[in-house]
Amino acid sequence: MIITVASGKGGTGKTTVATNLAVALHAEGKDVQYVDCDVEAPNGHIFMKPEITERVAVKLESPRVDAEKCTGCGQCGEVCQFSAIVCINKKVLTFLELCHACGACGLICPEKAITEALRDIGVVEIGDSNGVDFIHGKLNIGEPIAPKIISEIKKRIDPRKIVVMDSPPGSSCPAIEAMKDSDSVLLVAEPTPFGLNDLEITYEVVKELDTPCFLAINKADIGDDRVRKFAESKELPIVLEVPHDRRIAECYSGGGLIVDALPDYRERFLEAFEKIGLTGKGQEGVESCQKKSS
Ligand code: SF4
Ligand code: SF4
Repeated sequence: MIITVASGKGGTGKTTVATNLAVALHAEGKDVQYVDCDVEAPNGHIFMKPEITERVAVKLESPRVDAEKCTGCGQCGEVCQFSAIVCINKKVLTFLELCHACGACGLICPEKAITEALRDIGVVEIGDSNGVDFIHGKLNIGEPIAPKIISEIKKRIDPRKIVVMDSPPGSSCPAIEAMKDSDSVLLVAEPTPFGLNDLEITYEVVKELDTPCFLAINKADIGDDRVRKFAESKELPIVLEVPHDRRIAECYSGGGLIVDALPDYRERFLEAFEKIGLTGKGQEGVESCQKKSS
């Protein structure tokens, strides 16, 4: 069962929800994998404090131009949608940090002057956090292809476990790459006008993916009721509310987990999981998890 925790923007409490959900489930005896796909700014490790046991470099194919063969025709620059290869005064320049590895330049080159070479764009790290399987990825600074790292992370998902996936924020390609194939998406939003705006956008994306969708409201006692009204209008179940509690802020700023520092919150995360599991595709997953842990 894969639950992806997502949000319309960073800083809404997505990682707080994902890490605490994973640890609360593990404390209940479930077999859990925490997977951080927020590869441009992974921070789940700050709270999970894993012991990393394996590192895998992620590589991407990038064009390499043979100057001996190149005639300076310029077709490679014309076909590239990302200005990652340009031809100026019959000289070809590449800007690999802009390259999306589509391979079009190599295909169009009439002289077969472009070949592909692998280069590192990031790393996937695998480890253990007190019994919770831990996986995260890190995209090298300046690299644009987050989905490649995310797909490498997802290859290591164990479908027999409860997988809590921390998605990149937003609704662009990296977030979609993380959310697709999930059994459920748990959106996290704050009850503010900005929170509502981001929630509306991300909710529409999840609907396009045809994945059961749930809502967690962080700092639930601030702002107004427009996020709740939106949820009601879309029949989007609110499965978790985390209050704007000073003790939570202190715990978070110290790199701690709420469910460890404030065990009375553990039940809220477990209830959220049960509510997610009892609706839509998650039912099967919960039943298999329950059978497994009994
Ligand atoms: S398409 Fe090939 S031959 Fe033409 S400029 Fe590019 S590398 Fe050179
Ligand atoms: S592989 Fe695609 S994105 Fe990269 S330089 Fe060639 S055409 Fe541009």
